[in-house]
Amino acid sequence: MSVPEQFKRGIQCAADIIRGSRNTVALTGAGISTPSGIPDFRTPTSGLWEKYDAFEVASLNAFRYNPENFFNWMRPLARDIHTASPNPAHRGLAQLEEAGYLQTIITQNIDGLHQQAGSRMVLEVHGSLQSLTCVRCYQQHNASNFIDAYVEQGVIPRCSKCSNYLKPDVVLYGEQLPARTWLKAQESCKRCDLMIVAGSSLEVLPVAGLPMRAIDRGAHLIIINQSHTYIDVRADLVLNADVALAIPWIVQEVLSGRP
Ligand code: ZN
Repeated sequence: MSVPEQFKRGIQCAADIIRGSRNTVALTGAGISTPSGIPDFRTPTSGLWEKYDAFEVASLNAFRYNPENFFNWMRPLARDIHTASPNPAHRGLAQLEEAGYLQTIITQNIDGLHQQAGSRMVLEVHGSLQSLTCVRCYQQHNASNFIDAYVEQGVIPRCSKCSNYLKPDVVLYGEQLPARTWLKAQESCKRCDLMIVAGSSLEVLPVAGLPMRAIDRGAHLIIINQSHTYIDVRADLVLNADVALAIPWIVQEVLSGRP
């Protein structure tokens, strides 16, 4: 696929910066998974806002108070995630990692699509839907044992040991980020000399602060996102584009320029 003229310079510039970097971190958000059919539940058009307020239903307190309400709210999203496949943006980042141009992905997404695309160094700072943990005995369970019955029939996952509710290992509102993963994410931002923000509007703290840590230590910053972010003014390059188009073009350019 050829690159539209207006983007050519931006794509080439991004590729030059990537080729010139030794330690690159990609920070990805909901925008990288919307082309795979997974709605961003913070956007009003996703439909998930219509019946419930996500801040109320998807908070730790709400889960404790009424897990069934939470699971009913989560079900359409879980169905979308369960049936989704990686798109060209996920695959492009996996290619970059494979070729040695990308060292770490930090993702706000809980869908596991980076790993499905072949990425290995993925830090899921908001957790993952791939596993659940019992709220009473803390036994961890693989989501594959429950997902079909939950998505298709609404069966709420319960612990096989103590039959209590299982909580998906995702970070709910009011909950701390997984400590070890978050520490690794912060360390990788200190080490990197390039950060690529892809498909995140950087509105959710504390993850939104990571690019600032990187550039304060002299790292370059590339932002590929449909909308404005707070840190655009400090970026070396901003591409307001669909990541599923822009990333494959950039990857093609990076790899074609290899010696
Ligand atoms: Zn249990």
